[in-house]
Amino acid sequence: MAILVLGGAGYIGSHTVFELIDKGEDVVVADNLQTGHRESVHSKARFYKGDIRDEAFLNDLFKKENISSVIHFAANSLVGESMTDPLKYYDNNLYGTMILLKSMISNGIDKIVFSSTAATYGEPESIPILETDKTEPTNTYGETKLSMEKMFKWVSQAHGLRYVSLRYFNACGAHISGKIGEDHSPETHLIPLILQVPNGKREFVSIFGDDYKTKDGTCIRDYIHVTDLAQAHIQAVKYLAEGNKSDIFNLGNGVGFSVNEVIETARKVTGHPIPAKISPRRAGDPAILIASSKKAKNILGWKPKHDSLEEIIETAWRWHKNHPDGYNS
Ligand code: UDP
Repeated sequence: MAILVLGGAGYIGSHTVFELIDKGEDVVVADNLQTGHRESVHSKARFYKGDIRDEAFLNDLFKKENISSVIHFAANSLVGESMTDPLKYYDNNLYGTMILLKSMISNGIDKIVFSSTAATYGEPESIPILETDKTEPTNTYGETKLSMEKMFKWVSQAHGLRYVSLRYFNACGAHISGKIGEDHSPETHLIPLILQVPNGKREFVSIFGDDYKTKDGTCIRDYIHVTDLAQAHIQAVKYLAEGNKSDIFNLGNGVGFSVNEVIETARKVTGHPIPAKISPRRAGDPAILIASSKKAKNILGWKPKHDSLEEIIETAWRWHKNHPDGYNS
C-alpha cells in the first residue's frame, strides 16, 4: 500500500517524500503546484496534479491508488498574507481540509498526519511551550490551523478516523544532498533572506526590532531542520499504523536563537560580512517561541538529529548557493 502526500511539492512535503522513498515506502504525491515545485518531487513518487478542494479529483485518486495513510501539507502558510487575505486561508486550509475529510471517509481511509504550527499558541504564557498550553492565535493562519485540529477532533469522534497533528516551530535548512530546499515566492523567512545577501540578491538583511525583552533585544525562535520534521511525519504514520490514538505534538529543538545569533552564524558559515539593519518590529511577532518536544520524543520516539544552528545553516547555504533563483536556477 502507498502513502499519499498532499502538498508533496512544497518545502516540508518534498523533504518528507525524499525520506519516505529512502525508507523504501511506496509514495503518491498530489499538489496543485500553486506554491509547490514539480522539480522538487522525487522521481520515484507517482505525481498527480490536483487540488484538495476538488472532491472528484480526490475520489478518483483514492480509487486509483491503494492508500494506507495520508500526510497532509497542502495549505497556505504566510502569516502576513493571511491577515490581508483571510478568506484565502479559510478556503484552502479549512474548506480544503473539509473536502479532504469527506473524501477520506467515503473511501474508507482512516489515518492522517497533518501540518500544524506554533502559531496556534499565539503569545505564549510560559517557555518552553507545552501542547497543553492555551491556544489563542494572533493571526488568521494560526486560527485556520487550530480550526483544522478541531475539525479533526470532532470528525474522528463521529467517523473513527485517527489523526496526528504536528505543530512545527521554525522549519529551516535543506536536504543534505543539496538537491531540494526552500523556495518561497515571496520569501519572508529569516534564513533564506539572510542567505540572499552572500548570494548577491540583497544588500543587507533587516532585523525586525531590537527592543524586545530578550538577551540581545531581537526575537528568539526555535529553529528545526526540515529533515527532522520529515522524520517526525514518518514516525507519526507508524504510530497510527500501530493502532495508537489521535494526538497533537510540538516539533522543535527546544533551544532558542536570537535573530542576531542567526545572522552571526550565517556570517561564519558563508564567510560573508552580511550587513544587517535594524527596522521596526513586524506586527504579530511574539518575543520568544521555544517548544517543549518532550511529548514527541517520549511517545513518537522522535529525536532531532540536526540540532546545531551551524549545521542547519550549512545545509541551507549548500542549497541556496547552487540555486540562487530556487527551482528556476
Ligand atoms: N525576521 C527578521 N528579518 C527578516 C525576517 C524575519 O528579523 O527579514 C525575524 C522575525 O521577526 C522573527 C524571526 O526572524 O522573529 C523568524 O521569522 P520567520 O519569518 O523566519 O519565521 P516565523 O517566526 O515568523 O515563523
